[in-house]
Amino acid sequence: MELSRRRFLVAGGVAALAAPGLASLAVGRGGVEMNPREDAVWAEDAPAMPSVPRFEGDRKVDLAIVGGGYTGLSCAYYAKLFRPDWKVVVLESHKLASSASSRNSGAVYANYVGISDPEMPERGLNRLRRFMETEEVECDFGPASTLMLLTSKSAAEKAKGDLESGASFVSSDALRDRTGSDYYEGAVSPPGYYRVQPMKLAVGHAQAALRVGAELFEDSPALGIENGKPARIATPRGELVADHVVIATNAHTPRLDLLRSSMYPIHQYSFATRKLTSEEMSSFGLDRWMLRFERSLLPVTFSVTPDGHFFVRMVLGYASNDSCEWRDVEGAQRVAKLLFEQRYPAIADIGLTHGWHGVTGHTALFKQVSGVIGEGNVHVSAAYNGLGIMPAHNNGYLTACKLAGRDEEDTRFLTGVSGQLPFPRDYYRSMMLKPVLNLMKPV
Ligand SMILES: Cc1cc2nc3c(=O)[nH]c(=O)nc-3n(C[C@H](O)[C@H](O)[C@H](O)COP(=O)(O)OP(=O)(O)OC[C@H]3O[C@@H](n4cnc5c(N)ncnc54)[C@H](O)[C@@H]3O)c2cc1C
Repeated sequence: MELSRRRFLVAGGVAALAAPGLASLAVGRGGVEMNPREDAVWAEDAPAMPSVPRFEGDRKVDLAIVGGGYTGLSCAYYAKLFRPDWKVVVLESHKLASSASSRNSGAVYANYVGISDPEMPERGLNRLRRFMETEEVECDFGPASTLMLLTSKSAAEKAKGDLESGASFVSSDALRDRTGSDYYEGAVSPPGYYRVQPMKLAVGHAQAALRVGAELFEDSPALGIENGKPARIATPRGELVADHVVIATNAHTPRLDLLRSSMYPIHQYSFATRKLTSEEMSSFGLDRWMLRFERSLLPVTFSVTPDGHFFVRMVLGYASNDSCEWRDVEGAQRVAKLLFEQRYPAIADIGLTHGWHGVTGHTALFKQVSGVIGEGNVHVSAAYNGLGIMPAHNNGYLTACKLAGRDEEDTRFLTGVSGQLPFPRDYYRSMMLKPVLNLMKPV
């Protein structure tokens, strides 16, 4: 099902049209996609997401946040902490956190793709940790033994010579004996990685935002955002008028006719085994390294959930018109199964039982889009380029600081769309990014 958006009326005429990010609002195909989303494996072992109402009627609020994933919920939480007097509303088109925030691979480390500052990501990680402690979010967060797997001898040799401090090299023989796979030529085991149960973290975000008094609405898509002071958001059952707006729709942002020339969605598919016993885990060599990343152009991740499902996550590619829905699920499952059979033949035989799709938001230069767009009261935070658990939470915090006028040095990293390269539009996007699924097929 697709809801057509309300026509965007750009207040302020030419000046607003020239504003980066908003220029593309009145053009392009799209509309909010409303098909239901299947649960990821994480939902099996997580508390239920709080059930919240639909948005109905006409309201005026201080802050309206569009998108109820980690970014939107974190922003709502901190905004209410900093400005308890504000009315803060989150509009979520589907169920809360039902997109990337509940279906990612759960790998966390102090890194922002595209930001080279060595210390800000550490501060971001500390903020996420503090949030989990303060709000007592039980989400299996902890250090994760990790492998960066190499598929060629030359890459393995090079990696062995370039080890960073704290990292160790694992030979192909050791991998064969201890990981259940003879596919790799070697691996680096780097320090500094953590693992989290994504759905539990998402539930923790929603509960915390509700606890501090933010109002959350699900099944409540924003259909169009009318720039202006205040801004106006059209929904199927009423209008929300807001002094400030935060767009936290990540990969779905172009479907709102926003940032279409800066960012694009990339589809991912994950396929997991049934729950394995601890004896199976150790006999298959899965009890040693929790996160296993293949270092290649098209990243493949293998990981094990805290309750014992082993899964692969792979890249599917792009779907026309920035769609965030993927139709060929069977094709994705076939390729995922092939990947399993090639890397972990013994495990592929025991059956893959849980499959789930997800989308990540990307930019040409692998740099997030965060900061003010338009007239100054519309903020955006999106395009974490595949690694966004900590950055989404941290950007929610930074955006709230900015909105509440708090003195926080890291808000300087919210640079809007400046420094982004335009990415070719749909026809060329399709030509460049669609064939990825075929490239994933193992030879
Ligand atoms: C398969 C997969 C694996 C990943 N693995 C990792 C990993 O291991 N480590 C890591 O750090 N990151 C990972 N990521 C990325 C990470 O999950 C995301 O960067 C992060 O969840 C982004 O959070 P968000 O709140 O910005 O976006 P989302 O969680 O996508 O939330 C955006 C929300 O906006 C809603 N929305 C969209 N349009 C509208 C509208 N018009 N009106 C109202 N609501 C709307 C959507 O329904 C959605 O709930 C992965 C992502 C995927 C898909």
